[in-house]
Amino acid sequence: MAEVSAAAQAWVESNWGPDLTLREWWGRLAEAGWAFPAWPKGYGGQGLSPAEAREVGEVLSAAGAVAPPGGLGQMMGGPVIIEHGTDDQKDRWLLALAAGRESWCQLFSEPGAGSDLASLQTRAVRDGDVWIVNGQKVWTSGARTADRGMLVARTDPDSPKHKGVTYFIFDMDQPGVEVRPLKQMDGGATFNEVFFTDAVVPHDQVVGSVNNGWMVAVSTLAYERQGIGGGRGAGGVMAGGPGEKNGALDRKVGELIQDGQRTQGEQAAMMTAQSSGALADLARTFGRRDDPVIRQRLMRMRIQSETHRVNGARARAAAQAGRMPGPEVSTGKLISSSLGRQARDLSLEIEGPHGMLVGPDAPEGGRYQQMGLRVQSGSIAGGTDEIQRNIIGERVLGLPREPQVDRELPFRDLKVGTQKSTNQ
Ligand SMILES: Cc1cc2nc3c(=O)[nH]c(=O)nc-3n(C[C@H](O)[C@H](O)[C@H](O)COP(=O)(O)OP(=O)(O)OC[C@H]3O[C@@H](n4cnc5c(N)ncnc54)[C@H](O)[C@@H]3O)c2cc1C
Repeated sequence: MAEVSAAAQAWVESNWGPDLTLREWWGRLAEAGWAFPAWPKGYGGQGLSPAEAREVGEVLSAAGAVAPPGGLGQMMGGPVIIEHGTDDQKDRWLLALAAGRESWCQLFSEPGAGSDLASLQTRAVRDGDVWIVNGQKVWTSGARTADRGMLVARTDPDSPKHKGVTYFIFDMDQPGVEVRPLKQMDGGATFNEVFFTDAVVPHDQVVGSVNNGWMVAVSTLAYERQGIGGGRGAGGVMAGGPGEKNGALDRKVGELIQDGQRTQGEQAAMMTAQSSGALADLARTFGRRDDPVIRQRLMRMRIQSETHRVNGARARAAAQAGRMPGPEVSTGKLISSSLGRQARDLSLEIEGPHGMLVGPDAPEGGRYQQMGLRVQSGSIAGGTDEIQRNIIGERVLGLPREPQVDRELPFRDLKVGTQKSTNQ
């Protein structure tokens, strides 16, 4: 292990510098195999263990260097191609992802298929060497800046819903694709609807085999949960998004770090707004710290935060030992969304009438209000709270599985109907 750290350290000393462009830095990291050290040699990695990869991340952090590219393609797409892709697909995409030249999005959810993803209705029909795609996806984060998407589409409606689905790597820049941003209640628009009208995907961009995409989708979701659970943190300073459309590749890494420090400062202020320590300070500022009900709720949050920290350490230890995510990821996700909701309710109650203000007029620049508008997403993204409870019930407590009366029926007999836009 010490050898890996020493080799990474020596490499960083002679390769990292603030005057490099992001493209140059990420290119060097990928070519040398330090971008994603657990990926195979020649594809941006060195085939190292997760524990060794973490050591490399610590070296990058200690040097204050920019982290390897982060995005859904890097978090889920790369590992999925390594696990299920052909050699040609590995050659085509892995190094491009590792070097941050590409940004990918996740084309899974649809208006009628979220928790029950296997009910998806976007169709792909084969026409010689290509597939023709029609339908709609929704809640697609980052679709406007994505070069490709991980697409699951129905290819055999006569099979049961989990069986007639195929997984594609889909090119976003083509005439049959329309991306419409969705405005969020916090003012941002990171989500999108994506409409496909006779869009085309070459047959050699099928991952796994035709009608066998469910297995590939499930492994994508496992990498997503692992990424959200923090088991794969790359290490280094987060700065700039991958892909040409994010506009950061030709900027100097030194400048990007400065920009990043400002936005990370704002994000950190919002994140700490969820902590029991920040809320105790807020109670002090508003003269509410002796209120017995507020004290009780603060202590409840404090205890849950501590449980969350220990649970997170357990998840990281499992990832370091090379184990796939287990139930600790579901319990961790549940505690974190519960803490978010408690922080929202308690902070706005402590602020009293000031809780109704927004922006700079509100206490502490409105960070509690902004946090309150965002926390709800934590209990939906990556599997809702109810779905996490189902997982815990079935896999940890050994309760009977939910009845699934439609599991063996042909999909054609289950779904009739049109797809509606959520904008309407
Ligand atoms: C921040 C964020 C980012 C996202 N990014 C993406 C993305 O990039 N790509 C993408 O494809 N999707 C994305 N999503 C969508 C996300 O995957 C879905 O919102 C999620 O899977 C839930 O699906 P749904 O919204 O259709 O709700 P539904 O599945 O319709 O659920 C509605 C309600 O019913 C409950 N429910 C459903 N089934 C059960 C059950 N079996 N038992 C008990 N209760 C149940 C749910 O818990 C929920 O309360 C994102 C969502 C968020 C919030």
